[in-house]
Amino acid sequence: MAATVRPVQRKEFKFRESSYLPEVLRGLAITTRQFWRNLVGQRDIVTLQYPEVKKRYPNRFRGRHRLMLRDDGQVRCVACMLCSTACPANCIHIVAAEHTNTSIEKFPQKFEIDLLVCIYCGFCEEACPCDAIRMDSGRHSLPTFSRSPQNIGKIDLMEIGSLSIAKQGGKNA
Ligand code: SF4
Ligand code: SF4
Repeated sequence: MAATVRPVQRKEFKFRESSYLPEVLRGLAITTRQFWRNLVGQRDIVTLQYPEVKKRYPNRFRGRHRLMLRDDGQVRCVACMLCSTACPANCIHIVAAEHTNTSIEKFPQKFEIDLLVCIYCGFCEEACPCDAIRMDSGRHSLPTFSRSPQNIGKIDLMEIGSLSIAKQGGKNA
């Protein structure tokens, strides 16, 4: 099949357009008007004065992880490993230990998340059967000068945790 050729009509510029001067002046006028409008009226400014002013993230924002707590302040996690199994980035590292309370059985002796590897997919909180891990902290991870502070441990994760009212095994856990 023969190719269809469509001639392009090139527009001839008039002297006013080819000199560029009127358009440059028009652009400068818009910039100047916007400058004074923002300076005096403070309108239409989308820049926030961070960190004094912070934007509130939407409720569905997946932020830094937190480990939820029991009534007595202990970690709610039972080290079932479902979150680390579901994690596609393989960045959750848990070491389980026997709990002294036989009704709880296990707890995480070590619970670490490598935030530099995490892709914030939310699979871990979806997989958790006892509301022990959440990503609703509304915080994003802060920049650091080295890699190690991005590997957050149980204490840091529990620090921003809170009591959960979810029921475990039919009882409040
Ligand atoms: S958010 Fe996703 S990648 Fe990050 S720890 Fe959870 S499951 Fe893994
Ligand atoms: S956070 Fe939840 S899913 Fe992960 S090990 Fe603990 S109880 Fe299991």
